[in-house]
Amino acid sequence: MEDLFLKALPLLHELKKHGWQAYFVGGAVRDVHMNRAVGDIDIATDAPPEEIENIFPKTIDVGKEHGTIIVLFDGESYEVTTFRAELEYEDHRRPSGVHFIKSLKEDLKRRDLTINAMAMDADGKLIDYFGGLQDIKEKVIQTVGDPAERFHEDALRMLRALRFMSQLEFALSGKTKTAICENRQLLAHISTERKTVEFEKLLKGKAADRALAMAADTGLYKELPGLAGKKDGVRSAGVFPFYKLEKRADIWAAFISMVSIDAADAPAFLKSWKLPGKIIKQAVHVAESIEKKWDRLSMYEAGEETLLSACKIHMLKEKGEIDDRRLAEIRQAYMELPIKSLKDLAVTGGDLLNLRNKPPGKWVSEDLKQIELAVLKGELANQKKAIEEWLDACSQT
Ligand code: ATP
Ligand code: MG
Repeated sequence: MEDLFLKALPLLHELKKHGWQAYFVGGAVRDVHMNRAVGDIDIATDAPPEEIENIFPKTIDVGKEHGTIIVLFDGESYEVTTFRAELEYEDHRRPSGVHFIKSLKEDLKRRDLTINAMAMDADGKLIDYFGGLQDIKEKVIQTVGDPAERFHEDALRMLRALRFMSQLEFALSGKTKTAICENRQLLAHISTERKTVEFEKLLKGKAADRALAMAADTGLYKELPGLAGKKDGVRSAGVFPFYKLEKRADIWAAFISMVSIDAADAPAFLKSWKLPGKIIKQAVHVAESIEKKWDRLSMYEAGEETLLSACKIHMLKEKGEIDDRRLAEIRQAYMELPIKSLKDLAVTGGDLLNLRNKPPGKWVSEDLKQIELAVLKGELANQKKAIEEWLDACSQT
């Protein structure tokens, strides 16, 4: 058993000691059978939430009514969820309620995809009722049970299927694909926030190209914010390796550039994904800078972060990879700028007022702007005395 599971094993033993069933479930079981890095370890048990709280000294109630308690143990936190079956679904997005059950099989049956519906017991034995391991071997994504039915219950599962295609580099089963084609409109019932979480994971996956092509083929793209008329853009965005970028704003900047969202429409497009204002601002700024010709002035105006982000995206668009040496050179050129902001100028507005002995007015910022430009161009040293002389000379001509 992997170290991360061994570390969490005492939780299973503790639950079992109290007479309950307990298993590792979900993504971690999938990942360990794919030799992928295991993320969060989730545990499922037939112990009701109150019992989980009684058994473990440190717990956080994050959704007791749905059966989820976080257990803090040995410096880690684990989601421990009571086996549950979901009642009737409302609006294609949430069950009207859940009830706690005794059967692991029933709990696994409500999970979305076969590869996500496996469990592992305390001895490391795999429990796989729905052919998850076979699908891992065949590299195929399919739902547990009838896909159309499962998408009617919760339409987000269609986007999750594409997200896992991208992350795991898997294909989509024919039946699941057909069900997406036929039920894609149901995605309209899902909140933007949930769609955004899955879509960002999709973009960051290694096979985003496959998933975006599938979104285009099935028509699912039409149900995504701002993409309804952008079939070709969605498909062609797939050639960009989003996974080579780290920052959220950069990923969105690259996406709007690849889909060819007009600069004027970019803020509204990003807002339709309900992204935070700060990310929107950064992404727009970076997107506008991708095709820029860089000189001292444009580097200064962009600032270090936007400059480097825009250059990385440009390299990825052109060559598919980031040239670290070239990037270091660009950073060096930025570092060598005589000033990085107006604050770095050797004179302030106050200095100009003293020097000129004129009442304050628009001229102060205009003069500062001229000094800034001359310093950046290397025509003027950023020293108080030199600037004063330069101003004198200017006013005499
Ligand atoms: P990741 O590594 O990205 O966290 P994960 O498989 O853990 O992948 P989560 O979104 O964290 O994915 O969900 C945890 C588990 O809960 C899934 O493996 C799946 O069994 C179940 N699950 C999550 N969302 C749904 C859903 N919409 N419908 C059914 N089951 C779901
Ligand atoms: Mg998870």
